[in-house]
Amino acid sequence: MPNLKGIFQSKQKSVTVKAGTVRGDTPEGLWTKCEKCGGMLYKKELIENQGLCSDCGFHFRLSASERILVTLDDNSFVEYDEELITVDPLNFPGYDVKVEAARKTTKLEEAIITGIGSIEGFPALVGFMDFSFIGASMGSVVGEKITRLLERAARQRMPVIIFCASGGARMQEGMFSLMQMAKTAAACGRLSSTRTLYISVLTNPTTAGVFASFGSLGDIIIAEPGALIGFTGQRVIEETIKQKLPPGFQTAEFALEHGLIDMIVDRRNMRKTLRSLLSLHGGRRRNTG
Ligand SMILES: [Zn+2]
Repeated sequence: MPNLKGIFQSKQKSVTVKAGTVRGDTPEGLWTKCEKCGGMLYKKELIENQGLCSDCGFHFRLSASERILVTLDDNSFVEYDEELITVDPLNFPGYDVKVEAARKTTKLEEAIITGIGSIEGFPALVGFMDFSFIGASMGSVVGEKITRLLERAARQRMPVIIFCASGGARMQEGMFSLMQMAKTAAACGRLSSTRTLYISVLTNPTTAGVFASFGSLGDIIIAEPGALIGFTGQRVIEETIKQKLPPGFQTAEFALEHGLIDMIVDRRNMRKTLRSLLSLHGGRRRNTG
């Protein structure tokens, strides 16, 4: 496992890690509150524990850069397509201000980081979405980065792993945003025709347009425990069909029970699981020296 003790001092290439990204009800200070059990957690311990509550195992949301640090081998990550910049194709009121504010608070250019890295020596193309960038909504840049990653995977016959998290489409980009669903889904189809492995990891929450496109098109679909997974929100569905939905509807556990996903993997076992899957599907280990 990567050394998590120095997570906030990482000098890993192209990754900016800032304090306060493992979030709770009290964003400032030394302590944070667990959203599930309400227990008070010492932030330093929470970080060392990969963002898991030491009492109940609740999986706190990770930023893209934190996810890179807990998932990939140290210093193995190289970013792709970081030059892609979000534009405002519809001149949507306030969109430019919103994007600029998200850039400032997250230190990211967009809601996803893509690139190449390795897991216990097994190389893979990787994508990491970051919910704190406008709810990791999918606009043109997110869709383009995903598509380029999948196309690169197809060309190089290199396995690809995407950690999804999203509230859905970037509505401020209108149809430019919605067409990313078809674009990324088509890229998944082309990748599949080359018989190259695509693993999608659904983290909390993965919903709407991202779930309904590349999120649910992995050859193997993994979810983190308790992750919210689905298309439309529970309240909207209940109002539409005039029925009460069963308890736990749209949780990873419910999705697994009903065959929507393949497995639920605790964050502490994620690297080991991904490594096994890469190995089983013909991945060749790099000589890491
Ligand atoms: Zn807890």
